[in-house]
Amino acid sequence: MPENMAAMSTSAHQIRDNLDAIHARIQTAATGAGRSADEIRLIAVSKYMPAEAVQQAMAAGQFCFGENFVQDAQTKQALLDDPRNEWHFIGHLQTNKARLIPGNFDWLHTLDSLKLAGKLSAATTASQQPLNVLLQVNIAGDPDKHGLPGNTVFQFTESLLEAGLQGIKLRGLMTIGRQQATTDQRRADFLALRELSEGCAQRFGRQYFTQLSMGMSDDFELAISAGATMVRVGSAIFGERRRATPGSPAPS
Ligand SMILES: *Cc1c(COP(=O)(O)O)cnc(C)c1O
Repeated sequence: MPENMAAMSTSAHQIRDNLDAIHARIQTAATGAGRSADEIRLIAVSKYMPAEAVQQAMAAGQFCFGENFVQDAQTKQALLDDPRNEWHFIGHLQTNKARLIPGNFDWLHTLDSLKLAGKLSAATTASQQPLNVLLQVNIAGDPDKHGLPGNTVFQFTESLLEAGLQGIKLRGLMTIGRQQATTDQRRADFLALRELSEGCAQRFGRQYFTQLSMGMSDDFELAISAGATMVRVGSAIFGERRRATPGSPAPS
């Protein structure tokens, strides 16, 4: 196992118990918001976690995983080849790694440049399913975060759709919540993303904006109340990581 995947070990029953607890909380949050839990996909974020931890989640019925680093993910994917698995790339992607995504991942949550879109599409072969993509939006205007500023999303979408890229399929929006924020600020950000998504759907067609990826271990219930269809939960399932921050540099 590469050193950077070493993590505090969370036992198999602990992962199963954590998953059960998260499902119950998703159910409660969905019901509270007048929604069905069936509309909400739980993405288990397994970055820095060893393949054994992912395998334990699979044994507990979890088949949807989020990874931030291409090489780490590939190591695990090779060990855990199972057609039920759905892999989501949720980290920032350098354009020179775009070719590694199609075929290895079903979804990419972090599209924020047309150049990257072109490379992803070109790397998808005719025999592969188009890659599902979400636009990463920096909804809070956080200078330290990647993502499109909210007020550029219409323009970006227009250009993206005009480009007619066959290898990718636009499915919605994603955001990473502010690290230091009050509950009210987080709620406001999530609601702003949902409103933006609604505006995009009206303007460009609902089929491109069915998904809203928002909410993590600390705030997924809030995100569900605001309309999330995908929640990305890591530490609440697998335990604490040595490096916890989204967007932090890749391990060397
Ligand atoms: C790490 C990460 C998560 C999961 O974070 P937790 O707080 O551990 O649930 C979700 N989304 C992204 C983009 C991440 O990088």
